Amino acid sequence: MKYREFAEACERISQVTKRLEIRSFLSEFLRKLDPEDIPPALYMLQGQLRPEYEGVELGVGDALVLKALATAAHMDEGRLKEEVRATGDMGESAFKVLSGRQVLEEGRPLELSETYDTLRKIGSTTGEGSQEGKTGAIAILLTRTSPVEAKHLVRFLLGKLRLGVKEMTLLDALAEIYGEGDFKLARGTIENAFNMDPDLGEIGTLLREGGLKGLEAVTVALGKPVRPMLAERERSLQEVLDRMGGKMALEYKYDGLRVQVHVDRDGNVKIFSRRLEDLSSQFPDVVAALKGAFRTLPVIVEGECVPVDPETGELRPFQEISRRRGRKYDLERIATEIPVEVFLFDLLLEGTESLLPKPYPERRERLEKLTRTSSAVDFATREIVSELPEAERFFQKALTDGCEGVVAKSLAPDSRYKAGGRGFLWIKYKREYTQELSDTIDAVIVGAYRGRGKRAQWYGAFLMALYDPDRECFSTLCKVGTGFDEETLASLTQRLTNAALTARPPSVESGFAPDVWVDPEIVLELRGAELSLSPVHTAATGLIREGYGLALRFPRFTGRLRDDKGAEEATTVGEAVRMYTSQVRHVEEPPKP
Ligand code: ATP
Repeated sequence: MKYREFAEACERISQVTKRLEIRSFLSEFLRKLDPEDIPPALYMLQGQLRPEYEGVELGVGDALVLKALATAAHMDEGRLKEEVRATGDMGESAFKVLSGRQVLEEGRPLELSETYDTLRKIGSTTGEGSQEGKTGAIAILLTRTSPVEAKHLVRFLLGKLRLGVKEMTLLDALAEIYGEGDFKLARGTIENAFNMDPDLGEIGTLLREGGLKGLEAVTVALGKPVRPMLAERERSLQEVLDRMGGKMALEYKYDGLRVQVHVDRDGNVKIFSRRLEDLSSQFPDVVAALKGAFRTLPVIVEGECVPVDPETGELRPFQEISRRRGRKYDLERIATEIPVEVFLFDLLLEGTESLLPKPYPERRERLEKLTRTSSAVDFATREIVSELPEAERFFQKALTDGCEGVVAKSLAPDSRYKAGGRGFLWIKYKREYTQELSDTIDAVIVGAYRGRGKRAQWYGAFLMALYDPDRECFSTLCKVGTGFDEETLASLTQRLTNAALTARPPSVESGFAPDVWVDPEIVLELRGAELSLSPVHTAATGLIREGYGLALRFPRFTGRLRDDKGAEEATTVGEAVRMYTSQVRHVEEPPKP
């Protein structure tokens, strides 16, 4: 396929807002692709070069792209800068300045695969002279593009393609192509495969080669993070026990960082976060501790990485481990200052065997058999219980030991590991549930308000939203300005200033107009007094009552930035509805309309 067709597809998608229209357009477009173009197209539509977990980056900034564009357009850099300032979008400027240029009609039009290969090369260029090399390669690409191609190429290079094409939309489009009339079945099959193999390019290729049957080959694989299984909630331990059929395993719910550990045959360790990012380089001490921890290799195990007091072995607050995230330097010093321990709770692969279909009791037993524990690697504390008093005692013990609660796990024969699924095979029960408010809520910043008085130099409050997976949008829950210290406000202000938009992003639904809008990206953990029905906030609109959404009353920031969660992993409107209905009492019930 020619790159031009790809760019025209981007143009079209950026003008359509209806999800169904985008889906059918995408499926039409994906159908037309040559087999070798499937992976590049699937990555590039999401603004990526490879699946996110590989962490591949282009390593080009605004200045570099501006220089390349100026060269391609034979334009003075200063004038081009002015032009970009006027449009606020270098892609749009590229379209404009190249529209006046004679396209090299005789030049060979760019192929999609050729563009992709060049971009990959640009991404892997490092070292001395690499910046010049990258600028030159981009300038050459731009001399061969038409204005519309240049527009989307520039946006891609700057990481601002912003088509709003999410993984889930692409799965929808693939299901439309390969569903053979049964969209729902196909969608489920494709998502299941994708939960085990998060490489959409590979899923697309398997589908092209063998249709839905082709996905039967997908299994857990070393080096590819499996989407984590998640837990549901219940409001009392009695309800947890009932839901589990009167008998269950209770494990400590550690408050740390969930890690999925892949150890290959030679003992090489990779650690992935809950969001499937590779954390290995940030935790050299954990890598070292896990290297020799298993009697069988390869393995994939899961656990929670928690800060511990090296003197007493006691668990420390979660906040300490967040100081270790995202670091590139001083790793050894910080590892000694903030030592951590990994508490393992699941086994996903042993040798070449996937353990996903096996029931939890077997997975846990095999995990215990193959692991050598040490001061840095242990198992999640657990107990099998069938009586409420036993469960209550274990829960209290978990709290005393510094955990945030317990996770109940089903012992049933069908208690398989459900990659990427939130369900009742695992149920979490936390300390907060024993108080009036039910739980913390992870909400996403979609807008910000300028601070006043002492806070005048920063943004002082934020418009927060929840994710609605069915409608693929973010709808507002509250405005929060409490619980922030100055350091946090300063760093949030800096992040948000870089991302500020003048118009509401299409994925956000809101009845409020903050001073600036931002794309939903930053997740904050909030606590509040209650969830109440709201005529102005849009979260869960109409799900509980016609004309009302949900709002968090008296919200405050807990101090915990959930950088380990992507915007779509924030609390969903569905979860909020469950939290609302399980509240002890519903305040401010407005009269039925
Ligand atoms: P929360 O904010 O309540 O931690 P979450 O949305 O991050 O919730 P959930 O699936 O709802 O994730 O809660 C399960 C999380 O608890 C896991 O992702 C994991 O990080 C953590 N956890 C701690 N101990 C355990 C355990 N023994 N078994 C499973 N998960 C555990």
